[in-house]
Amino acid sequence: MTGVGKLHWHGLDNDTVLELLGSSWEGLTSRQCRERLDRYGLNVLETGDGLPVLRILLDQFKDFMVMMLLAATAVAALLGEVADAVTIVVIVVLNAVLGFVQEYRAERSLHALKRMTAPVARALRDGAECVVPAEELVPGDIIQLGPGDRVPADARILHARALEVDQSLLTGESLPVAKHAGVLPGRELASPDWTNMVFMGTVVTQGRARGVVVATGMETEMGAIAETIEEAGTGDTPLQRRLDHLGRYLGLACLLVCGLVVAAGITRGESWFHMFLAGVSLAVAAIPEGLPAVVTVALALGVQRMAARSAIVRRLPAVETLGCATLICSDKTGTLTKNEMTLREVTLASGARYEVSGSGYSPEGQFSLVEGAPAAPDLALILTAGAICNNARLLQENVRQRGRIQRKWKVSGDPTEGALLVAAAKLGLDGETLSRCNPRVDELPFSAERRCMSVVVQRGAVRRAYIKGAPDTVMGMCSLARAGDSEHRLDAGWQRRITGQADTMAGQALRVLALAYRDLPATGETEIEKDAVFLGIVGLLDPPRPEAVLAVSRCRQAGIRPVMITGDHPATAAAVARETGLMTPGTGVLTGAQLDALDDPALARHLEHTSVYARVSPQHKLRLIRAFRAQGHVVAMTGDGVNDAPAVKEADIGIAMGLSGTDVTKEASDMILADDNFRTIVAAVEEGRAIYDNIRKFIRYLLSCNVGEVLVMLAAVLLGWPLPLIPMQILWVNLVTDGLPAMALGVDPADPDNMRRPPRRSEEGVFSRGLGIKIAVRGIMIAAATALTFGWCLGQTGDVARARTVAFVTLVFCQLFHVFECRSETRNVFSMGLTSNPWLVVAVTCSVAMTLVAATHPALQPHFQTRSLTLEEWMAALAVSGLMLVTAAVRHLLAQVVAGIARSGVERHDL
Ligand code: ATP
Repeated sequence: MTGVGKLHWHGLDNDTVLELLGSSWEGLTSRQCRERLDRYGLNVLETGDGLPVLRILLDQFKDFMVMMLLAATAVAALLGEVADAVTIVVIVVLNAVLGFVQEYRAERSLHALKRMTAPVARALRDGAECVVPAEELVPGDIIQLGPGDRVPADARILHARALEVDQSLLTGESLPVAKHAGVLPGRELASPDWTNMVFMGTVVTQGRARGVVVATGMETEMGAIAETIEEAGTGDTPLQRRLDHLGRYLGLACLLVCGLVVAAGITRGESWFHMFLAGVSLAVAAIPEGLPAVVTVALALGVQRMAARSAIVRRLPAVETLGCATLICSDKTGTLTKNEMTLREVTLASGARYEVSGSGYSPEGQFSLVEGAPAAPDLALILTAGAICNNARLLQENVRQRGRIQRKWKVSGDPTEGALLVAAAKLGLDGETLSRCNPRVDELPFSAERRCMSVVVQRGAVRRAYIKGAPDTVMGMCSLARAGDSEHRLDAGWQRRITGQADTMAGQALRVLALAYRDLPATGETEIEKDAVFLGIVGLLDPPRPEAVLAVSRCRQAGIRPVMITGDHPATAAAVARETGLMTPGTGVLTGAQLDALDDPALARHLEHTSVYARVSPQHKLRLIRAFRAQGHVVAMTGDGVNDAPAVKEADIGIAMGLSGTDVTKEASDMILADDNFRTIVAAVEEGRAIYDNIRKFIRYLLSCNVGEVLVMLAAVLLGWPLPLIPMQILWVNLVTDGLPAMALGVDPADPDNMRRPPRRSEEGVFSRGLGIKIAVRGIMIAAATALTFGWCLGQTGDVARARTVAFVTLVFCQLFHVFECRSETRNVFSMGLTSNPWLVVAVTCSVAMTLVAATHPALQPHFQTRSLTLEEWMAALAVSGLMLVTAAVRHLLAQVVAGIARSGVERHDL
């Protein structure tokens, strides 16, 4: 990639910079961008990932036991056993192909997810602001930056307001650095000190800026240190690590048993070479080291399903943790409510109260006076203040409705501010005209901690500040109140009255904002947010999401406590919490100020009966998470603002808002909600539980099959029988016929009861809740069934190859019946139906067909040493293996009867 070359951009003025970059204040055209993209390449840091496809393919053969098997096969070929060698190689290759296909798909879907969460940038293209993938930025692009944005490329600042940037990734310096748009003299400055430039990867902590991209990709300052950048890891999940660990022990046990089988065989006079091959085959087949890989596949497939439901997982371990979540801490705005604000009420400082009609963002509606004396000038002033102290834009876009194109109003930016623009427009005040006539000279940006924002505008010789924010905050900045033509001292009486009005509005689930202004002296530094004139309060309606009610109740059914943590007024928060069912009788609201007054033990006592935390700051969120976790809760927590990142990181499952969240919060999160919706969190928990269930299903399936195989071989050796299966058969069963059904279990649909049981304990082991016993019992039964048909046929015919064929098909049938039982740990095998997982039916059919071919096709019979069986032998194999299913059903029935008796016993006792 070539760059525009390193120039001392910081020493040049804006117009020279733009000229040198072939750009302008309106940005580049789409055509210029395409050309530059070809010339400079993508704006990405090269990480030298290598060729994943080749890596995945080679990984399939990397396993130690597979290598042993291939070595043994080579020896077999040298000794003249070419047919055996070819068969084994074919089986190993088939297995590798299966494994490759699975892992490649998993890798692809994880890659696709990565792309979904790839950063975006706001750029000016063809004169309009649009959101583009950050990797498509080119030198000369004009970009916009706001709080919480990660800077997408190196850029020279053209225009900045109160801009502060955290450059710690570049310099290690943790304090944010103030940036501006001026020219810097002095070539000797080091790049981090270029305060009129921003660098890729650094974070905007506050303020806004417009800049022109001067370098992209490896040409950036970050490109120079690219290797040190840490990617959001998709590392192993706890279960994968646990399985890896377990696999080692099981592998050792298998090796011991295989050694025993080999030793016993050799002692009994079998050829050492054949026994060695049998031992290695058994070890390859029985050692479950493939499990972590299968888990990856199941996780990846599940993660794809979650993405389809708008939950985008950034870190795989979160999928498992989701299933253990006991508490969901959710924001209010946008998550439980629609984040579609409409201004409903205005109460002026004079006491005049107006109701506002209209719906959505359409600027049509009426103001009707419902209390007090008419005060049109004050009404116009408060709405002017709301429209000027505003960073949103009201736009019209074309939407197709019932086949017709219609113009629809939409807000770009914060919906709260959008609603203020709409209300002003209803009174005939156009936001854009107001902003043009009142050019902004300064801004104190909104932050969740400050709960207010101010702008200073210049109108002729007059400088005026407009302030808006939470009523208590704004009142604290005012010394006067405006009523008609006069200004009154905002004394305790006025304050009490306004607080009462704000509380009444908030009690109706309205979001309340107060507005004020201050005329500033023409010269000299003056504190902006002080001695201002209070104008009044406005109430905005943000209706609760109807689906949130159901999601909250599903949460409760699933043993998960929903909690609301919001920066909004306690009364607004409580009203929304009641409407969504989140606040139940006996639970209350705790405010940030009350939280501050509690020490840790007192807070711990409050947690149990508080479901709404209001007027909290991001620091409070962090404290709450720690307190909940100290009580043993597994906490899922949402966040959007730049300062939410630490809390999101601290939570067991950090959730960022996809629509309203900042880059920094998204990067700190484990999961992103593409639609910001509370329901999506609950859906993700449901999928998380289903994925874990599916992993348990195939652990159960694969391990009981392996136990069955090892035991039948061991039993034969101990009984002094010939080996019931030859290496080729063992390998075929294990590496080929088992694989497909196991994969199909990975996509089994969620159990309908999945959200009616309590969360799983996070420290729960792989074999918990009786899984170990189930695996052992079923393994013994598979071994017994195989040994039984083998012994029976051997006794009847004395033909070892025939008896092995019967044992081979019995083993496969047992396993294929067993796979249906593995679909649920609670439900009867016959009650689940076959249509709910058609993949399983396809997989089992394929496995049956492949086994029939191996057992009956004249071309394959010599390779597998199989014989054509009689009808009686087929029936025997089928009947014995069919017993698996019958015993499973009977055992389930008995368990139900016993549970029923126990229940009625308890009820009688209670009576
Ligand atoms: P959450 O999303 O956590 O439920 P929230 O969106 O209600 O919370 P914040 O965005 O932190 O909370 O806002 C807190 C308070 O700040 C609001 O109650 C409101 O009074 C005030 N506020 C919100 N948005 C703005 C804004 N754009 N300008 C000025 N003040 C604002």
